[in-house]
Amino acid sequence: MINGKTRLAGVMGWPVSHSLSPVIHNAWFRQTGINGVYVPFPVKPEELEQAVRGMAAMGVAGVNLTIPHKEWVLPLCDEVDEAAKRIGAVNTVLFKEGKMHGFNTDAYGFWQNLEERARFVRKHVALVLGAGGAARAVVAALDAAGFGTIYVMNRTFAKAEQFKTLSPKVVPLEWNANPAQMKEVDLLVNTTSLGMKGEASLEIDLSPLPSYAVVTDIVYTPLITPLLAQAQERGFQVVDGLGMLLYQAQKAFHIWFGQEPVVDDALRQKVLEHLLC
Ligand code: NAP
Repeated sequence: MINGKTRLAGVMGWPVSHSLSPVIHNAWFRQTGINGVYVPFPVKPEELEQAVRGMAAMGVAGVNLTIPHKEWVLPLCDEVDEAAKRIGAVNTVLFKEGKMHGFNTDAYGFWQNLEERARFVRKHVALVLGAGGAARAVVAALDAAGFGTIYVMNRTFAKAEQFKTLSPKVVPLEWNANPAQMKEVDLLVNTTSLGMKGEASLEIDLSPLPSYAVVTDIVYTPLITPLLAQAQERGFQVVDGLGMLLYQAQKAFHIWFGQEPVVDDALRQKVLEHLLC
């Protein structure tokens, strides 16, 4: 029930109507018994500062930021956590005691999902496809997890090269459907938008991968992308991208409300139902 004690949180994006975050966080308010509500806020890029300052003034607990605001909100924050500084993007803001605290929970979300859903991940060599915003969080997570070599292969090679400043373990690669490095890869991660509903498929030959390799895609529409379907067919462990969304949200909820909500099959199912709508 919404009353005078209801806490408010939400997600700012442009556009934002596709966001699944309201489904996730509102399920957690019910689960934890916290009197709160989570809503989408369509905020134009040129009105971002005005919007976040207004939220702080209104006593909003916190907000998530999605495309295109993640990078632009960072300089507006009074304090920024290490992950956000490193990744160069803030996806969660906590409004507390007149200050704006910025966090990045995407790297946590990516790795937590992998830990939960893969049976075993050998942590020597990773191949990351793509060098966009989400790839930065993925590479930060792989670096923290202890991978020795992180290949970053991107259509625009210059962007892959920039990832060397993110981690000394990064080795940039030119875009190639048959990379020679494939036979040494323990973990392959797609962070490009290829394979997403309405986009072209990712053309890559997975046959040289070692039998123990894990293949994961952070694209989750569809849940089983053509890349994951090929990996499944070849008998590799596969991890879909929905869990990254759920776990980054879990950490944000904890930052705002001090409680760690549960990520379980019922929540996955609920979110999947919304995905299919
Ligand atoms: P982004 O910053 O726009 O990066 C897009 C990446 O895809 C770039 O590396 C781009 O290469 C590459 N790309 C696009 N079209 C391509 C093509 N035709 N051929 C080869 N490469 C192509 O986007 P992002 O924010 O990183 O998001 C990427 C994907 O991850 C999206 O589908 C998004 O929905 C998903 N995502 C999922 C989660 C989750 O929680 N599971 C979180 C964040 C993002 P260039 O650099 O050459 O343009």
